[in-house]
Amino acid sequence: MPILSAVAGAVLLVAQARPSGDSILLRVLATNDFHGSLEAKVQPWSNRRPVGGAAALSGMMDRLARACGCTTIRLDGGDVMQGSPVSNLSYGRATVSAFNAMGYAASAVGNHEFDWGVDTLAARVLQAHFAWLSANLRDRATGATPAWTAPWRMVTAGQLRIAVVGYSTEETPSTTRPSNVAGLAFDSGAARLDAAIAAARRERPDYVIVLAHAGAFCDRTQGCRGEVVDLAAALTNRPDLIVSGHTHSLVQTTVNGIPIVQARSNGTALGVVDFVDSAGVRVVRIRVETVWADREGSDTAVARIVQAAAERIAPLTSRVVATLAAPLLRTGDQYPLGNLIADAYRAAAGTDVALVNNGGIRADLAAGPVTWGQLFEVEPFQNFLVRLRVSGAVLRQTLEHAVGAEDARAHVSGVAVRVNAAAPAGQRVVGLTLTDGRPVLDTAQYSIAVPDFVAAGGSGYAMLRALASQNTGIVDLDAFVAYLGRLPQPVRPPEEVRVETGGR
Ligand SMILES: [Zn+2]
Repeated sequence: MPILSAVAGAVLLVAQARPSGDSILLRVLATNDFHGSLEAKVQPWSNRRPVGGAAALSGMMDRLARACGCTTIRLDGGDVMQGSPVSNLSYGRATVSAFNAMGYAASAVGNHEFDWGVDTLAARVLQAHFAWLSANLRDRATGATPAWTAPWRMVTAGQLRIAVVGYSTEETPSTTRPSNVAGLAFDSGAARLDAAIAAARRERPDYVIVLAHAGAFCDRTQGCRGEVVDLAAALTNRPDLIVSGHTHSLVQTTVNGIPIVQARSNGTALGVVDFVDSAGVRVVRIRVETVWADREGSDTAVARIVQAAAERIAPLTSRVVATLAAPLLRTGDQYPLGNLIADAYRAAAGTDVALVNNGGIRADLAAGPVTWGQLFEVEPFQNFLVRLRVSGAVLRQTLEHAVGAEDARAHVSGVAVRVNAAAPAGQRVVGLTLTDGRPVLDTAQYSIAVPDFVAAGGSGYAMLRALASQNTGIVDLDAFVAYLGRLPQPVRPPEEVRVETGGR
């Protein structure tokens, strides 16, 4: 049995008690955090089997719709486009084409939808045959919902009228480059969502489904916790279902009587939610299934879209940049891949120190020849490297933040940090030296290179935001590619731990 809260277990129990003779009124096929994963991939956990890809996902949704013989609707919890070369090099165009062919009715507006600016998102919304929804997103100056989105939309599926309501995580401004969302406000709390659901209910839909790009993490002992749980608990106008997203986690629970589903990420899993008439009682059955690309039939129309997009970028993505002596995996908070990227930033920017936030490191690398396309998936965001001058005191404050806040974890180059993890946040850095062993002095000046996302205060690095900065004009990926190509081959990753916990 997957990870479930006690309440979700009860829902499943009902489902398992009466599997036959029931009729499915509506089947919801739900994904989230697709992140441009148009092509199937072997995952670290998949035992060498290919998982996901738009063609297999589409084939699976078709199969589940046929098997049901009922009314179905395809929905997504947001963060549709950002994350693979085939998607990003077309600024999401290829993914929207695939989603159109896959028959999605609506998606939430995810934080990464803004990564190429609002104008590009508005263009993708025009291209989309599905609605991109958010109830808590508004223009800061006028208070109005921007023209390219809407709080909710009525969708007709078979004989059913389904009101679909969107929500964007309140973390959006700190999880994309701030300039991308300048002028927009993302209201926290449930008030706007509640109001949008009430407005939708007044149109007497058969179902109300919320697409919330807001997540949770669940475990057996503590149940589920996170933004979408708080949101669901605070709603007075309860929807029939929440499709959640953003945390890339498995969520299968019920909060405040509202079923919530999240199917991991990157098209590797599909949420299947059945609203069932079971002897006159309506029950909801949720399951999340892995998308095995070697088992599902491939949707040929979708496969053609993906193949054409991949062929257009193949000369670039297939170029071998370097050879790795060992695999580079993201395990724990500190790993050689992060050190290598930080070294690349410091070399490109010519600074004393460099820092890369772990949230910006998005894929592992296997040993052997590594292509530009694989490196792109490690650093898909096209952040510019920014050079800042900081005092030793601010450098120390920056590193305190990196070791204090869970979502601010980072790798460094040019310094060695000793950390007492047991000390209160803000007092954990107990040793701070440059690589040559000289201590970092509070009053001395140092140069530091960081991605522009971090320089703008992303992931809570507010101490850097006010500083005068110089954009190097170098894209983070280009720095990494150039650095790897220059190193002696095969590349031996820097194994030393530079942020050492357990120090006293
Ligand atoms: Zn997200």
